[in-house]
Amino acid sequence: MTRRIGHFVGGKVVEGSSGRFGDVFDPNTGEVQAEVALASKSEVEAAIANAAEAQAAWAAENPQKRARVLFRFLQLAQAEMDSLAALLSSEHGKTVPDAKGDIQRGLEVVEFACGIPHLLKGEFTESAGPGIDMYSMRQPLGVVAGITPFNFPAMIPLWKCAPAIACGNAFILKPSERDPSVPMRIAELFREAGLPDGILNVVNGDKEAVDAILTDPRIMAIGFVGSSSIAEYIYSTGTAHGKRVQCFGGAKNHMIVMPDADMDQAVDALIGAGYGSAGERCMAISVAVPVGREAAETLMGKLIPRVENLKIGLSSDAGSDYGPLVTKQALERVRSYVELGVKEGAKLAVDGRDFAMQGYENGFFMGGCLFDEVTPDMTIYKEEIFGPVLSVVRARDYDEALSLPSSHEYGNGVAIFTRDGDAARDFASKVNVGMVGINVPIPVPLAYHTFGGWKRSGFGDLNQHGPDSVRFYTKTKTVTSRWPSGIKDGAEFSIPTMR
Ligand code: NAD
Repeated sequence: MTRRIGHFVGGKVVEGSSGRFGDVFDPNTGEVQAEVALASKSEVEAAIANAAEAQAAWAAENPQKRARVLFRFLQLAQAEMDSLAALLSSEHGKTVPDAKGDIQRGLEVVEFACGIPHLLKGEFTESAGPGIDMYSMRQPLGVVAGITPFNFPAMIPLWKCAPAIACGNAFILKPSERDPSVPMRIAELFREAGLPDGILNVVNGDKEAVDAILTDPRIMAIGFVGSSSIAEYIYSTGTAHGKRVQCFGGAKNHMIVMPDADMDQAVDALIGAGYGSAGERCMAISVAVPVGREAAETLMGKLIPRVENLKIGLSSDAGSDYGPLVTKQALERVRSYVELGVKEGAKLAVDGRDFAMQGYENGFFMGGCLFDEVTPDMTIYKEEIFGPVLSVVRARDYDEALSLPSSHEYGNGVAIFTRDGDAARDFASKVNVGMVGINVPIPVPLAYHTFGGWKRSGFGDLNQHGPDSVRFYTKTKTVTSRWPSGIKDGAEFSIPTMR
C-alpha cells in the first residue's frame, strides 16, 4: 500500500477527499514513494473557512505572544534538523547538507519574524496640528496564501508563512506537489510550538487548488514562487480578483569573469553555483561570461576537468556534489535542452547526458554539461534550463558583458568576479538585475534584507522577507486624533507590561 499524504487543516492531518492524487517520487530510485492528495475547490474553501474563523483571535494576541510561538518553533525545527533534511532530500534529490541549508535559510526568516513587536511599530507625530496627534499602525490583512515551488520545499514556505503569521494573519500554504512532506511537517511543528489551530493550513494540490485560492474573496494576499509563465498567470488572475499579489519567477543568472579575476576562485564559484543542487536553484549560475579571449581560454581550461570530475551520487551520500533531478520529466526536459544546444551550434565541451548511477539506473541522475561559444540568439541562452548545464558566452569587453544580463528577459541574480573595485562598483550600479554579487556567486540576501528579481523574474512591487514582508502582509491605518479635554487619572506607580 503506497503511503498517502493528505492536508493539514485545523491543527490536524486530514485525508484528501477529491479522489485525485499525485505521485511523489524517490528521485534516487525513480520509484513512487508516496501519493499526495490533490485538493478540490471545496476542500480549499473549507481550509480557508477554517483559517478565517481562527484569524481574528490570533490577530488580537499581542505581538510578543505571537513571536514566542515562532521562538518555540525555531527550537523544535533545530532539534529535528537531521530528520527534516533527510526527508527533504528523499523527495527533492538535493544532498542532505544542501537540504540543511534549505531549512536553515528558512529558519533565518523565522528568526527575523521573531522581531515582529519591533517591526510592526507604526509612526507617530505629536502636535501635527493644534492639539492633534497623528499616528499610523500596521494591521494584518486576514487570510493570506502562499504557493511555492519544488526546489526549496522548506525555505520558501517559511519565507512566506513566518512573516505573515507573525503579523497576525492566517496562512494557507499550497506547496509543490513534488515534495510536500516537509511543508506538512513544518505545519505540525508550528502547532507543537503553540500556534492556534487554523492559523497555518496546508492544502496540497495542483492547478485546481491554486485556482480556488486565486478566486476566493476571503484570500487577501498571495505570495507565489515558481516558473515565470505561472507567476504571470498568478499575478494577473490574483490582482484581477482584487488581491495583493507578489510573484517570483524563473531566472538566467550570469557570472561575469573579468580578466583580472582570481581564476581559481571563479572556477570554484562556477562549479558550486552552476552544479550545486543539480542546477535546480533560482539563483544558480547558468551563464558564465569571461571577458576577453585570454580569460575565456583560461576559464575553459580549468572548468572542463572540474565538470568532468563532478561527483554525482545518491542524495543521502555525504560525498556527492549533487544528487538526482526531481522527476523524470525534469531530467528529460534538461536533456532535450542539451540536444537543442548542440543543434543550435553551441560547442558541448562536456556531455553528461549519458551518466548512469550503478545500481540506480532508474534514478533521475544526470552528469554535468558544459557549453562553450553560446550566443544570445540561441534558445539555450534565452530560456531557463534548470539543470546541471552551464553555458559560456564569450564577451569581447566589459560593456558587452554588462549588456548581456542587463538585456536578458530574466533579472534575478548576477555576479561579477574581478579585483577591480571601480569595475565592480560600476557594474553593481548599472546592471539591470535585482540581486548582485561581487566575487560572490549566489548573492541571496540575508533575512533582514529583501529578496527579489527584476523583469520576468518578479511580478509585483514588494520583495520577499526583510522589511518588505511586513509591508506586504499588513495594511497601514493612519489615525488623526484630537482630544478637546483631558482625562487625568493620577499617577501609576507600577511599570506597565504587555502581559
Ligand atoms: P512551477 O511554476 O511548476 O510550480 C510552482 C507552483 O505553482 C507549484 O506549487 C505548482 O503546483 C503550481 N502550479 C504549477 N502549474 C500550475 C498551473 N498551471 N496553474 C496554477 N498553478 C500551477 O515551478 P517549479 O517547477 O515548482 O519550480 C521551479 C521554478 O521556480 C523555476 O523556474 C525557478 O527559477 C523558480 N524559482 C524562483 C525563485 C525566485 O525567488 N525567483 C525561487 C525558487 C524557484
